[in-house]
Amino acid sequence: MGFVPTLGALHQGHISLIKQAQQNSTEVVCSIFVNPTQFNDPKDLEKYPRPIAADIRMLEQVGCDILFNPPVNEIYDDNEKWHLNIGDLDHLLEGKFRPGHYQGVTQVVYKLFSIVKPDVAFFGQKDYQQFLVISKMVELLNMPVKLVMCPIERENDGLAMSSRNIHLTPDDRQHALILSKALSWVKNNFDAGNIPAIKQQAGLMISNEPGIEPEYFEIVDGQTLHTATANTKTIVALVAAWAGKTRLIDNMLIGS
Ligand code: AMP
Repeated sequence: MGFVPTLGALHQGHISLIKQAQQNSTEVVCSIFVNPTQFNDPKDLEKYPRPIAADIRMLEQVGCDILFNPPVNEIYDDNEKWHLNIGDLDHLLEGKFRPGHYQGVTQVVYKLFSIVKPDVAFFGQKDYQQFLVISKMVELLNMPVKLVMCPIERENDGLAMSSRNIHLTPDDRQHALILSKALSWVKNNFDAGNIPAIKQQAGLMISNEPGIEPEYFEIVDGQTLHTATANTKTIVALVAAWAGKTRLIDNMLIGS
């Protein structure tokens, strides 16, 4: 059984995960659950899109076998509080700017894995740190599930697909292209001996773009998320920035 957990408001990024799951499994389950514990900003939770009828149509069209769409009280007890020590990953990058986010992610993915009991679960590289966090949880708890990371689906102009993109004004959307442009620039101009300068240049490209407020731009070791050095094997560049009122993340594998 293949499993694709989502927050819904499905787009072609989610569908690509379902298609990859279909190629690797006899039965595919998709979950749609807007998990309250992973939203550190109550306004973000409130305005998160929930177009369930359109989502069901997309799942039917792609031939997904099962949709799991539980209500919140079926997943959580009132005031349920517990957390798993995932070390550094909890506080770096996304963890720093979204305190508690990954505790919510581990809670919900733990519960979803326990209920659905998949053999393989498919996650997007779009949420690169999330993949590391879930891998860490599976390792710590010896959960019998294999994890697969699937590539980032992008619009033709490079913007990474995201359920949050519907909140972008036409101007925001145009300015947001700087994120994938800066990442591609790093990939194309990468020089392992000159990482700080490259990072600074890409950071400037983003901070000079009107309407864009960067939170971080980092070039890191893809396993630890610590700053990459000339000897790092897997290097990934990650960015988070506000485009108007919408927070976007993106990343790119840079190679060795
Ligand atoms: P979400 O609904 O945003 O929690 O995403 C559910 C799953 O879809 C996660 O594993 C995401 O990493 C993945 N995903 C989101 N956007 C994309 C994208 N543009 N390309 C590939 N996978 C994606």
